[in-house]
Amino acid sequence: MSASLATVSYIGATILFILSLGGLSNPETSRRGNVYGIVGMTIAVLATVFGPRVTMGGLPLIIGAMAIGGSVGLYAAKKVQMTQMPELVALMHSLVGFAACVVGFASYIDTSIVFTGAEKTIHEAEIYIGILIGAVTFSGSVIAFGKLSGKINGKPVLLPARHWINLAGLLIVIYFGHVFLNAETAGGGTFPLIVMTLISLAFGVHMVMAIGGADMPVVVSMLNSYSGWAAAATGFMLSNDLLIVTGALVGSSGAILSYIMCRAMNRNFVSVIAGGFGTGGGQVAKSDGAQPAGEVVPVSAVETAELLREAKNVIIIPGYGMAVAQAQHTVYEITKFLREKGVNVRFGIHPVAGRMPGHMNVLLAEAKVPYDIVMEMDEINDDFPATDVAMVIGANDIVNPAAQEDPNSPIAGMPVLEVWKAKTSIVMKRSMASGYAGVDNPLFYKDNNRMLFGDAKKMLDEVLVALHA
Ligand code: NDP
Repeated sequence: MSASLATVSYIGATILFILSLGGLSNPETSRRGNVYGIVGMTIAVLATVFGPRVTMGGLPLIIGAMAIGGSVGLYAAKKVQMTQMPELVALMHSLVGFAACVVGFASYIDTSIVFTGAEKTIHEAEIYIGILIGAVTFSGSVIAFGKLSGKINGKPVLLPARHWINLAGLLIVIYFGHVFLNAETAGGGTFPLIVMTLISLAFGVHMVMAIGGADMPVVVSMLNSYSGWAAAATGFMLSNDLLIVTGALVGSSGAILSYIMCRAMNRNFVSVIAGGFGTGGGQVAKSDGAQPAGEVVPVSAVETAELLREAKNVIIIPGYGMAVAQAQHTVYEITKFLREKGVNVRFGIHPVAGRMPGHMNVLLAEAKVPYDIVMEMDEINDDFPATDVAMVIGANDIVNPAAQEDPNSPIAGMPVLEVWKAKTSIVMKRSMASGYAGVDNPLFYKDNNRMLFGDAKKMLDEVLVALHA
Protein backbone atom coordinates (compact mmCIF):
# COMPACT_ATOMS: atom_id res chain seq x y z
CA MET A 1 0.00 0.00 0.00
CA SER A 2 1.39 3.43 -0.93
CA ALA A 3 2.08 6.07 1.70
CA SER A 4 -0.63 8.38 0.32
CA LEU A 5 -3.28 5.62 0.38
CA ALA A 6 -2.31 4.83 3.98
CA THR A 7 -2.69 8.52 4.88
CA VAL A 8 -6.13 8.71 3.23
CA SER A 9 -7.17 5.54 5.09
CA TYR A 10 -5.98 7.06 8.37
CA ILE A 11 -8.03 10.20 7.76
CA GLY A 12 -11.07 8.06 6.93
CA ALA A 13 -10.58 6.00 10.10
CA THR A 14 -10.22 9.16 12.21
CA ILE A 15 -13.52 10.53 10.86
CA LEU A 16 -15.22 7.19 11.59
CA PHE A 17 -13.89 7.22 15.18
CA ILE A 18 -15.29 10.72 15.73
CA LEU A 19 -18.66 9.64 14.27
CA SER A 20 -18.50 6.57 16.49
CA LEU A 21 -18.04 8.63 19.66
CA GLY A 22 -20.88 10.92 18.54
CA GLY A 23 -23.14 7.89 17.99
CA LEU A 24 -22.31 6.35 21.36
CA SER A 25 -23.55 9.44 23.18
CA ASN A 26 -27.20 8.42 22.66
CA PRO A 27 -28.81 4.97 23.13
CA GLU A 28 -30.77 5.27 19.90
CA THR A 29 -27.67 5.86 17.78
CA SER A 30 -25.25 3.73 19.79
CA ARG A 31 -25.53 0.67 17.52
CA ARG A 32 -24.59 2.82 14.54
CA GLY A 33 -21.78 4.33 16.60
CA ASN A 34 -20.41 0.86 17.26
CA VAL A 35 -20.54 -0.03 13.56
CA TYR A 36 -18.59 3.15 12.69
CA GLY A 37 -16.01 2.20 15.31
CA ILE A 38 -15.65 -1.36 13.97
CA VAL A 39 -15.28 -0.18 10.36
CA GLY A 40 -12.82 2.57 11.41
CA MET A 41 -10.70 0.13 13.39
CA THR A 42 -10.68 -2.41 10.54
CA ILE A 43 -9.47 0.27 8.11
CA ALA A 44 -6.88 1.47 10.65
CA VAL A 45 -5.46 -2.00 11.23
CA LEU A 46 -5.36 -2.89 7.51
CA ALA A 47 -3.75 0.44 6.58
CA THR A 48 -1.11 -0.08 9.27
CA VAL A 49 -0.35 -3.73 8.61
CA PHE A 50 -0.21 -3.34 4.84
CA GLY A 51 1.14 0.21 4.98
CA PRO A 52 4.58 1.42 3.91
CA ARG A 53 6.18 0.99 7.37
CA VAL A 54 5.83 -2.80 7.49
CA THR A 55 8.27 -4.91 5.48
CA MET A 56 7.24 -8.16 3.81
CA GLY A 57 9.48 -10.04 6.22
CA GLY A 58 7.63 -8.62 9.22
CA LEU A 59 4.15 -9.51 7.96
CA PRO A 60 4.02 -13.15 9.14
CA LEU A 61 5.04 -12.05 12.64
CA ILE A 62 2.33 -9.39 12.77
CA ILE A 63 -0.35 -11.69 11.38
CA GLY A 64 0.69 -14.44 13.82
CA ALA A 65 0.50 -11.99 16.75
CA MET A 66 -2.89 -10.72 15.57
CA ALA A 67 -4.23 -14.27 15.31
CA ILE A 68 -3.14 -15.07 18.87
CA GLY A 69 -4.32 -11.73 20.34
CA GLY A 70 -7.56 -11.82 18.36
CA SER A 71 -8.38 -15.37 19.51
CA VAL A 72 -7.73 -14.51 23.16
CA GLY A 73 -9.89 -11.37 22.83
CA LEU A 74 -12.70 -13.27 21.08
CA TYR A 75 -12.65 -16.02 23.71
CA ALA A 76 -12.65 -13.50 26.60
CA ALA A 77 -15.48 -11.44 25.07
CA LYS A 78 -17.63 -14.54 24.47
CA LYS A 79 -17.00 -16.01 27.90
CA VAL A 80 -17.36 -12.89 30.03
CA GLN A 81 -20.56 -12.38 32.00
CA MET A 82 -22.22 -8.99 31.78
CA THR A 83 -21.40 -8.41 35.47
CA GLN A 84 -17.71 -9.03 34.74
CA MET A 85 -17.52 -6.40 31.98
CA PRO A 86 -15.96 -3.70 34.20
CA GLU A 87 -13.15 -6.08 35.19
CA LEU A 88 -12.55 -7.02 31.56
CA VAL A 89 -12.40 -3.35 30.60
CA ALA A 90 -9.90 -2.68 33.41
CA LEU A 91 -7.78 -5.59 32.19
CA MET A 92 -7.87 -4.23 28.62
CA HIS A 93 -6.71 -0.83 29.87
CA SER A 94 -3.77 -2.54 31.55
CA LEU A 95 -2.77 -4.06 28.19
CA VAL A 96 -2.70 -0.60 26.56
CA GLY A 97 -0.40 0.60 29.35
CA PHE A 98 1.78 -2.50 28.98
CA ALA A 99 2.02 -1.96 25.21
CA ALA A 100 3.13 1.66 25.76
CA CYS A 101 5.92 0.47 28.09
CA VAL A 102 7.11 -2.24 25.71
CA VAL A 103 7.05 0.10 22.69
CA GLY A 104 8.94 2.68 24.77
CA PHE A 105 11.75 0.29 25.66
CA ALA A 106 11.85 -1.06 22.09
CA SER A 107 12.14 2.50 20.69
CA TYR A 108 14.98 3.21 23.08
CA ILE A 109 16.90 0.06 22.19
CA ASP A 110 16.20 0.41 18.44
CA THR A 111 19.29 1.80 16.74
CA SER A 112 18.02 1.60 13.16
CA ILE A 113 17.05 5.28 13.18
CA VAL A 114 19.65 7.66 14.57
CA PHE A 115 18.31 10.92 16.01
CA THR A 116 20.54 13.91 16.67
CA GLY A 117 20.21 17.30 18.37
CA ALA A 118 16.72 18.51 19.19
CA GLU A 119 15.09 15.51 17.46
CA LYS A 120 16.96 13.18 19.79
CA THR A 121 15.75 15.09 22.86
CA ILE A 122 12.15 15.09 21.62
CA HIS A 123 12.30 11.37 20.80
CA GLU A 124 13.73 10.52 24.22
CA ALA A 125 11.21 12.74 26.01
CA GLU A 126 8.44 10.87 24.15
CA ILE A 127 9.91 7.57 25.32
CA TYR A 128 10.27 8.71 28.93
CA ILE A 129 6.76 10.18 29.18
CA GLY A 130 5.23 7.30 27.20
CA ILE A 131 6.68 4.67 29.53
CA LEU A 132 5.68 6.74 32.58
CA ILE A 133 2.02 6.97 31.53
CA GLY A 134 2.06 3.36 30.33
CA ALA A 135 3.46 1.99 33.61
CA VAL A 136 0.98 3.94 35.78
CA THR A 137 -1.89 2.79 33.54
CA PHE A 138 -0.68 -0.81 33.59
CA SER A 139 -0.25 -1.30 37.33
CA GLY A 140 -3.24 0.93 38.24
CA SER A 141 -5.51 -1.04 35.91
CA VAL A 142 -4.33 -4.38 37.27
CA ILE A 143 -5.23 -3.23 40.80
CA ALA A 144 -8.57 -1.85 39.56
CA PHE A 145 -9.23 -5.26 37.98
CA GLY A 146 -8.49 -6.88 41.35
CA LYS A 147 -10.79 -4.52 43.22
CA LEU A 148 -13.67 -4.79 40.74
CA SER A 149 -13.48 -8.58 40.64
CA GLY A 150 -13.32 -8.79 44.43
CA LYS A 151 -9.87 -10.41 44.33
CA ILE A 152 -8.51 -7.42 46.26
CA ASN A 153 -10.40 -5.79 49.14
CA GLY A 154 -12.25 -2.70 47.86
CA LYS A 155 -11.48 -0.64 50.98
CA PRO A 156 -8.96 2.19 50.56
CA VAL A 157 -5.47 1.26 51.74
CA LEU A 158 -3.80 4.35 53.11
CA LEU A 159 -0.10 4.35 53.81
CA PRO A 160 1.07 6.83 56.41
CA ALA A 161 2.51 9.96 54.77
CA ARG A 162 1.18 8.76 51.43
CA HIS A 163 1.23 12.24 49.88
CA TRP A 164 4.91 12.62 50.83
CA ILE A 165 5.69 9.23 49.31
CA ASN A 166 3.99 10.32 46.07
CA LEU A 167 5.85 13.65 46.10
CA ALA A 168 9.21 11.93 46.67
CA GLY A 169 8.41 9.55 43.78
CA LEU A 170 7.58 12.49 41.52
CA LEU A 171 10.83 14.30 42.37
CA ILE A 172 12.89 11.16 41.70
CA VAL A 173 11.10 10.69 38.35
CA ILE A 174 11.85 14.31 37.39
CA TYR A 175 15.50 13.95 38.46
CA PHE A 176 16.00 10.73 36.49
CA GLY A 177 14.21 12.31 33.53
CA HIS A 178 16.95 14.93 33.52
CA VAL A 179 19.65 12.23 33.80
CA PHE A 180 18.00 10.23 31.01
CA LEU A 181 17.81 13.14 28.57
CA ASN A 182 21.43 14.09 29.24
CA ALA A 183 22.95 10.60 29.08
CA GLU A 184 26.13 10.83 27.01
CA THR A 185 26.68 7.20 26.05
CA ALA A 186 24.44 4.90 24.05
CA GLY A 187 22.45 2.91 26.58
CA GLY A 188 23.46 5.33 29.34
CA GLY A 189 19.82 6.14 29.92
CA THR A 190 18.81 2.54 30.61
CA PHE A 191 19.26 2.77 34.38
CA PRO A 192 17.20 6.00 34.84
CA LEU A 193 14.55 4.53 32.54
CA ILE A 194 14.25 1.37 34.63
CA VAL A 195 14.15 3.31 37.93
CA MET A 196 11.40 5.59 36.56
CA THR A 197 9.43 2.56 35.31
CA LEU A 198 9.58 0.89 38.73
CA ILE A 199 8.49 4.09 40.49
CA SER A 200 5.63 4.58 38.02
CA LEU A 201 4.48 1.00 38.53
CA ALA A 202 4.54 1.50 42.30
CA PHE A 203 2.69 4.81 41.94
CA GLY A 204 -0.08 3.15 39.88
CA VAL A 205 -0.54 0.49 42.58
CA HIS A 206 -0.44 3.04 45.39
CA MET A 207 -2.86 5.42 43.67
CA VAL A 208 -5.59 2.84 43.02
CA MET A 209 -5.11 1.02 46.33
CA ALA A 210 -5.81 4.33 48.11
CA ILE A 211 -9.14 4.78 46.31
CA GLY A 212 -12.08 2.68 47.31
CA GLY A 213 -15.77 2.33 47.86
CA ALA A 214 -18.06 4.55 45.88
CA ASP A 215 -15.11 6.39 44.28
CA MET A 216 -14.22 3.40 42.08
CA PRO A 217 -16.33 4.55 39.09
CA VAL A 218 -14.15 7.64 38.80
CA VAL A 219 -11.03 5.45 38.88
CA VAL A 220 -12.39 3.22 36.13
CA SER A 221 -13.09 6.17 33.82
CA MET A 222 -9.82 7.85 34.79
CA LEU A 223 -7.82 4.74 33.85
CA ASN A 224 -9.78 4.68 30.61
CA SER A 225 -8.52 8.21 30.00
CA TYR A 226 -4.94 7.24 30.94
CA SER A 227 -5.03 4.32 28.52
CA GLY A 228 -5.91 6.83 25.79
CA TRP A 229 -2.97 9.05 26.66
CA ALA A 230 -0.72 5.96 26.81
CA ALA A 231 -1.85 5.05 23.28
CA ALA A 232 -1.24 8.65 22.12
CA ALA A 233 2.27 8.50 23.64
CA THR A 234 2.86 5.23 21.77
CA GLY A 235 1.71 7.02 18.61
CA PHE A 236 4.36 9.71 19.17
CA MET A 237 7.07 7.09 19.72
CA LEU A 238 6.10 5.24 16.55
CA SER A 239 5.39 8.45 14.60
CA ASN A 240 1.92 7.09 13.87
CA ASP A 241 -0.54 9.96 13.42
CA LEU A 242 -3.64 7.79 13.67
CA LEU A 243 -2.57 6.35 17.01
CA ILE A 244 -1.93 9.87 18.30
CA VAL A 245 -5.40 11.05 17.24
CA THR A 246 -7.17 7.90 18.48
CA GLY A 247 -5.32 8.01 21.78
CA ALA A 248 -6.18 11.67 22.23
CA LEU A 249 -9.86 10.94 21.50
CA VAL A 250 -9.97 8.17 24.11
CA GLY A 251 -7.90 10.22 26.56
CA SER A 252 -10.04 13.32 26.33
CA SER A 253 -13.41 11.50 26.28
CA GLY A 254 -12.27 9.49 29.33
CA ALA A 255 -11.29 12.72 31.08
CA ILE A 256 -14.70 14.25 30.31
CA LEU A 257 -16.41 11.10 31.62
CA SER A 258 -14.33 11.24 34.82
CA TYR A 259 -15.40 14.85 35.28
CA ILE A 260 -19.08 13.96 34.72
CA MET A 261 -18.78 11.06 37.19
CA CYS A 262 -17.19 13.32 39.80
CA ARG A 263 -19.95 15.86 39.38
CA ALA A 264 -22.59 13.13 39.65
CA MET A 265 -20.96 11.92 42.87
CA ASN A 266 -20.50 15.46 44.17
CA ARG A 267 -16.80 14.73 44.56
CA ASN A 268 -13.77 16.80 43.77
CA PHE A 269 -11.56 15.16 41.12
CA VAL A 270 -8.32 16.01 42.90
CA SER A 271 -9.50 14.59 46.21
CA VAL A 272 -10.62 11.38 44.48
CA ILE A 273 -7.18 10.95 42.90
CA ALA A 274 -5.49 11.80 46.18
CA GLY A 275 -7.42 8.80 47.50
CA GLY A 276 -8.89 7.78 50.79
CA PHE A 277 -12.63 7.76 50.18
CA GLY A 278 -14.57 8.14 53.37
CA THR A 279 -11.57 9.08 55.42
CA GLY A 280 -10.68 11.91 57.67
CA GLY A 281 -7.14 12.76 58.75
CA GLY A 282 -5.71 9.59 57.25
CA GLN A 283 -8.04 7.28 59.17
CA VAL A 284 -10.50 5.06 57.41
CA ALA A 285 -13.89 6.34 58.50
CA LYS A 286 -16.20 3.85 60.15
CA SER A 287 -19.27 3.19 58.09
CA ASP A 288 -21.45 2.87 61.15
CA GLY A 289 -21.51 6.58 62.02
CA ALA A 290 -25.25 6.47 62.57
CA GLN A 291 -26.11 2.85 63.06
CA PRO A 292 -29.53 2.35 61.51
CA ALA A 293 -31.89 0.83 63.99
CA GLY A 294 -35.34 -0.58 63.98
CA GLU A 295 -37.22 -3.33 62.29
CA VAL A 296 -37.58 -4.05 58.63
CA VAL A 297 -40.94 -5.02 57.17
CA PRO A 298 -40.68 -7.94 54.73
CA VAL A 299 -43.28 -8.40 52.00
CA SER A 300 -44.09 -11.30 49.72
CA ALA A 301 -44.14 -11.33 45.92
CA VAL A 302 -47.96 -11.47 46.03
CA GLU A 303 -48.17 -8.39 48.27
CA THR A 304 -45.70 -6.61 45.96
CA ALA A 305 -47.89 -7.44 42.97
CA GLU A 306 -50.91 -6.02 44.82
CA LEU A 307 -49.09 -2.77 45.59
CA LEU A 308 -48.04 -2.49 41.95
CA ARG A 309 -51.53 -3.23 40.64
CA GLU A 310 -53.06 -0.54 42.82
CA ALA A 311 -50.45 2.07 41.90
CA LYS A 312 -50.87 4.86 39.35
CA ASN A 313 -47.25 5.94 39.30
CA VAL A 314 -44.34 3.52 39.64
CA ILE A 315 -40.61 4.25 39.46
CA ILE A 316 -38.23 1.31 39.10
CA ILE A 317 -34.65 1.81 40.31
CA PRO A 318 -32.31 -0.86 39.00
CA GLY A 319 -28.88 -1.48 40.51
CA TYR A 320 -26.00 -3.92 40.47
CA GLY A 321 -28.19 -6.76 41.82
CA MET A 322 -30.42 -6.62 38.73
CA ALA A 323 -27.31 -7.24 36.63
CA VAL A 324 -26.20 -10.13 38.89
CA ALA A 325 -29.63 -11.75 38.76
CA GLN A 326 -30.03 -10.99 35.01
CA ALA A 327 -33.54 -9.87 35.87
CA GLN A 328 -33.89 -7.21 33.16
CA HIS A 329 -36.13 -9.32 30.90
CA THR A 330 -38.61 -10.01 33.71
CA VAL A 331 -38.45 -6.31 34.62
CA TYR A 332 -39.47 -5.58 31.05
CA GLU A 333 -42.37 -8.08 31.20
CA ILE A 334 -43.65 -6.49 34.43
CA THR A 335 -43.28 -3.01 32.95
CA LYS A 336 -45.21 -4.07 29.85
CA PHE A 337 -48.00 -5.62 31.91
CA LEU A 338 -48.39 -2.56 34.14
CA ARG A 339 -48.28 -0.11 31.24
CA GLU A 340 -51.00 -2.05 29.45
CA LYS A 341 -53.10 -1.65 32.62
CA GLY A 342 -52.54 2.12 32.45
CA VAL A 343 -49.91 2.43 35.18
CA ASN A 344 -47.29 5.11 34.54
CA VAL A 345 -44.02 3.15 34.87
CA ARG A 346 -40.68 4.87 34.57
CA PHE A 347 -37.07 4.02 35.41
CA GLY A 348 -34.68 6.13 37.51
CA ILE A 349 -31.04 5.62 36.60
CA HIS A 350 -28.28 6.75 38.92
CA PRO A 351 -25.06 7.70 37.10
CA VAL A 352 -22.99 5.13 39.04
CA ALA A 353 -25.58 2.35 39.31
CA GLY A 354 -24.03 -1.06 38.66
CA ARG A 355 -20.34 -1.43 38.08
CA MET A 356 -19.64 0.60 34.95
CA PRO A 357 -20.90 3.81 33.35
CA GLY A 358 -24.15 3.15 31.49
CA HIS A 359 -24.44 -0.38 32.97
CA MET A 360 -28.19 -0.16 33.63
CA ASN A 361 -28.97 1.55 30.32
CA VAL A 362 -27.26 -1.30 28.46
CA LEU A 363 -29.24 -3.96 30.35
CA LEU A 364 -32.57 -2.19 29.89
CA ALA A 365 -31.88 -1.59 26.20
CA GLU A 366 -31.03 -5.29 25.83
CA ALA A 367 -34.43 -6.14 27.36
CA LYS A 368 -36.12 -3.69 24.93
CA VAL A 369 -37.38 -1.27 27.58
CA PRO A 370 -38.38 1.90 25.64
CA TYR A 371 -35.78 4.68 25.99
CA ASP A 372 -38.37 7.37 26.66
CA ILE A 373 -39.33 5.90 30.07
CA VAL A 374 -35.70 5.56 31.20
CA MET A 375 -34.85 8.77 33.06
CA GLU A 376 -31.63 10.14 34.51
CA MET A 377 -31.47 10.78 38.27
CA ASP A 378 -31.81 14.57 37.88
CA GLU A 379 -34.84 14.22 35.61
CA ILE A 380 -36.81 12.03 38.00
CA ASN A 381 -35.66 12.81 41.54
CA ASP A 382 -38.33 15.48 42.12
CA ASP A 383 -41.11 13.05 41.12
CA PHE A 384 -40.82 10.63 44.05
CA PRO A 385 -43.32 12.45 46.34
CA ALA A 386 -45.99 11.93 43.64
CA THR A 387 -45.06 8.26 43.20
CA ASP A 388 -47.08 5.38 44.67
CA VAL A 389 -44.43 2.67 44.50
CA ALA A 390 -40.66 3.06 44.11
CA MET A 391 -39.31 -0.41 43.34
CA VAL A 392 -35.60 -0.80 44.03
CA ILE A 393 -34.19 -3.85 42.25
CA GLY A 394 -30.79 -4.92 43.60
CA ALA A 395 -29.64 -1.36 44.28
CA ASN A 396 -28.27 -0.15 47.58
CA ASP A 397 -25.69 2.68 47.68
CA ILE A 398 -27.52 4.75 45.06
CA VAL A 399 -30.69 4.93 47.21
CA ASN A 400 -29.01 5.39 50.60
CA PRO A 401 -30.56 8.35 52.51
CA ALA A 402 -27.48 8.45 54.77
CA ALA A 403 -25.81 10.40 51.94
CA GLN A 404 -28.18 13.27 52.81
CA GLU A 405 -29.03 12.63 56.44
CA ASP A 406 -25.75 11.63 58.06
CA PRO A 407 -22.86 14.09 57.65
CA ASN A 408 -20.48 11.47 59.08
CA SER A 409 -21.40 8.86 56.50
CA PRO A 410 -18.59 7.91 54.10
CA ILE A 411 -20.99 8.68 51.25
CA ALA A 412 -22.20 12.01 52.73
CA GLY A 413 -22.89 14.50 49.94
CA MET A 414 -23.25 11.92 47.18
CA PRO A 415 -26.50 12.57 45.28
CA VAL A 416 -28.91 9.64 45.59
CA LEU A 417 -32.32 8.68 44.25
CA GLU A 418 -34.81 9.79 46.92
CA VAL A 419 -36.99 6.68 46.89
CA TRP A 420 -38.04 7.10 50.53
CA LYS A 421 -40.16 10.08 49.47
CA ALA A 422 -42.49 7.78 47.51
CA LYS A 423 -45.69 6.58 49.21
CA THR A 424 -44.17 3.10 49.46
CA SER A 425 -40.69 1.89 48.58
CA ILE A 426 -39.93 -1.77 48.01
CA VAL A 427 -36.30 -2.92 48.15
CA MET A 428 -35.50 -6.23 46.47
CA LYS A 429 -32.29 -7.92 47.62
CA ARG A 430 -31.23 -11.21 49.10
CA SER A 431 -30.15 -10.15 52.59
CA MET A 432 -29.39 -7.13 54.78
CA ALA A 433 -25.84 -6.96 53.33
CA SER A 434 -24.41 -3.57 52.40
CA GLY A 435 -23.58 -2.49 48.84
CA TYR A 436 -20.26 -1.78 47.11
CA ALA A 437 -19.34 1.13 49.40
CA GLY A 438 -19.83 -1.07 52.50
CA VAL A 439 -22.19 1.43 54.14
CA ASP A 440 -25.35 0.55 56.10
CA ASN A 441 -28.59 1.74 54.58
CA PRO A 442 -31.22 3.40 56.86
CA LEU A 443 -33.75 3.21 53.98
CA PHE A 444 -34.49 -0.41 54.94
CA TYR A 445 -35.85 0.70 58.35
CA LYS A 446 -38.11 3.51 57.18
CA ASP A 447 -41.81 3.14 57.99
CA ASN A 448 -42.91 3.27 54.36
CA ASN A 449 -40.26 0.82 53.18
CA ARG A 450 -40.85 -2.89 52.49
CA MET A 451 -38.19 -5.54 51.88
CA LEU A 452 -38.72 -8.25 49.27
CA PHE A 453 -35.94 -10.70 50.10
CA GLY A 454 -34.61 -13.14 47.51
CA ASP A 455 -32.82 -13.32 44.18
CA ALA A 456 -34.17 -10.48 42.02
CA LYS A 457 -34.94 -12.70 39.01
CA LYS A 458 -36.70 -15.36 41.06
CA MET A 459 -38.76 -12.83 43.03
CA LEU A 460 -39.71 -10.81 39.94
CA ASP A 461 -40.82 -14.02 38.21
CA GLU A 462 -43.11 -14.63 41.19
CA VAL A 463 -44.37 -11.02 41.08
CA LEU A 464 -45.17 -11.45 37.36
CA VAL A 465 -47.08 -14.67 38.02
CA ALA A 466 -49.01 -12.94 40.82
CA LEU A 467 -49.80 -9.98 38.54
CA HIS A 468 -51.25 -12.29 35.90
CA ALA A 469 -53.24 -14.28 38.49
P1 NDP B 1 -24.64 -1.76 45.34
O1 NDP B 1 -23.39 -2.50 45.13
O2 NDP B 1 -24.66 -0.63 46.28
O3 NDP B 1 -25.80 -2.75 45.84
C1 NDP B 1 -26.18 -3.86 45.10
C2 NDP B 1 -27.12 -4.69 45.94
O4 NDP B 1 -27.63 -5.71 45.10
C3 NDP B 1 -26.40 -5.37 47.09
O5 NDP B 1 -26.68 -4.73 48.30
C4 NDP B 1 -26.91 -6.82 47.04
O6 NDP B 1 -27.55 -7.13 48.28
C5 NDP B 1 -27.94 -6.82 45.92
N1 NDP B 1 -27.84 -8.01 45.09
C6 NDP B 1 -26.74 -8.66 44.66
N2 NDP B 1 -27.07 -9.73 43.95
C7 NDP B 1 -28.43 -9.79 43.95
C8 NDP B 1 -29.38 -10.70 43.38
N3 NDP B 1 -29.00 -11.77 42.69
N4 NDP B 1 -30.69 -10.44 43.59
C9 NDP B 1 -31.11 -9.38 44.30
N5 NDP B 1 -30.23 -8.49 44.86
C10 NDP B 1 -28.92 -8.70 44.67
O7 NDP B 1 -25.15 -1.34 43.87
P2 NDP B 1 -25.74 0.04 43.35
O8 NDP B 1 -26.05 -0.21 41.91
O9 NDP B 1 -26.80 0.54 44.27
O10 NDP B 1 -24.53 1.06 43.48
C11 NDP B 1 -23.36 0.92 42.70
C12 NDP B 1 -22.14 0.96 43.59
O11 NDP B 1 -21.02 0.47 42.84
C13 NDP B 1 -21.81 2.37 44.04
O12 NDP B 1 -21.22 2.35 45.31
C14 NDP B 1 -20.78 2.77 42.98
O13 NDP B 1 -19.94 3.80 43.41
C15 NDP B 1 -20.02 1.48 42.79
N6 NDP B 1 -19.31 1.36 41.52
C16 NDP B 1 -19.91 1.78 40.36
C17 NDP B 1 -19.23 1.75 39.18
C18 NDP B 1 -19.87 2.33 37.94
O14 NDP B 1 -19.15 2.75 37.05
N7 NDP B 1 -21.18 2.36 37.86
C19 NDP B 1 -17.86 1.17 39.09
C20 NDP B 1 -17.34 0.69 40.36
C21 NDP B 1 -18.06 0.79 41.52
P3 NDP B 1 -27.67 -8.65 48.76
O15 NDP B 1 -26.30 -9.20 48.81
O16 NDP B 1 -28.34 -8.56 50.10
O17 NDP B 1 -28.53 -9.35 47.75
